[in-house]
Amino acid sequence: MSEKTMFQKIIDREVDADIVHEDDRCVAFRDINPQAPTHILIVPRKPIPSLDDLEPEDETLVGHLFVVAREIAQEEGLRDGYRTVINCGDDGGQSVYHLHLHLLGGRRLEWPPG
Ligand code: AMP
Repeated sequence: MSEKTMFQKIIDREVDADIVHEDDRCVAFRDINPQAPTHILIVPRKPIPSLDDLEPEDETLVGHLFVVAREIAQEEGLRDGYRTVINCGDDGGQSVYHLHLHLLGGRRLEWPPG
């Protein structure tokens, strides 16, 4: 069996994280290296490695991640907007191969990304 990712260890409560939301399908916690005043990762419990591994059956799950992102954005008071990002693969800048949605806010974000 392949080794658990850091996010699987957080989901399994083997590694501590600052968890802000948890339900039957996902866990959300603050990024350890925040790129904005609010930087939260929303991670499905299902260990999908990346966006590129999504199956048609995951459609509802991915939608759920975005609904949770919106709920957390409201809780965090991100009234002026925020950004959601999924990095995919090496060129996309993905470093942890367990699908996750970044929620960033609390400052004006630049575009395009580097
Ligand atoms: P990505 O580069 O899109 O795969 O994003 C991975 C993110 O996970 C990065 O922003 C890291 O700072 C974050 N990260 C890595 N390890 C941890 C951890 N133990 N707790 C919280 N965030 C982490």
